[in-house]
Amino acid sequence: MEEKDKKLDLLRELIRNLLKEIFKLRKIDYIIIHHTATDRDTTTFQSINNGHKKRWNGKTKSSLGYYCGYTYFIDGSGHIWQARLDTEEGAHTRGYNRRTIGIGMAGHFDREKPSKGQLNALQELLEDKMRIYGLKKSKIKLHSDFSATACPGKNMREWIHLF
Ligand SMILES: [Zn+2]
Repeated sequence: MEEKDKKLDLLRELIRNLLKEIFKLRKIDYIIIHHTATDRDTTTFQSINNGHKKRWNGKTKSSLGYYCGYTYFIDGSGHIWQARLDTEEGAHTRGYNRRTIGIGMAGHFDREKPSKGQLNALQELLEDKMRIYGLKKSKIKLHSDFSATACPGKNMREWIHLF
């Protein structure tokens, strides 16, 4: 093979890989919102991470080194924790863990309300992801849209309908 052909081949491969990466980045169908169904202000990322590690026998370890099945976790103070890459398979919604971003909110939103900090963080995160992945509001879902569950609670459901 001539030197020029080799260079062209390399260039083609580079473009192919680049397109693959771009496609991967765009491959998000839904953002799915959850609550932990535990006390808002005492549920920490560490406790959820440990809980999920036990629940799935360590099988949900992400490339970031966490076991938390949500892609993102928002604690009671509004701090956002990233447990896995957006394109990485999660463990939060049976049958829909691929091509979705799962956001877990600390709290039990049938009996308490999300904090202001939590809602601000959620809003920012949602707007950011909608922009990056070109998602419309109709692509933001609740766990209860996919299975028979009360998750993420009536107070969260109310907020998302106004979002
Ligand atoms: Zn859920």
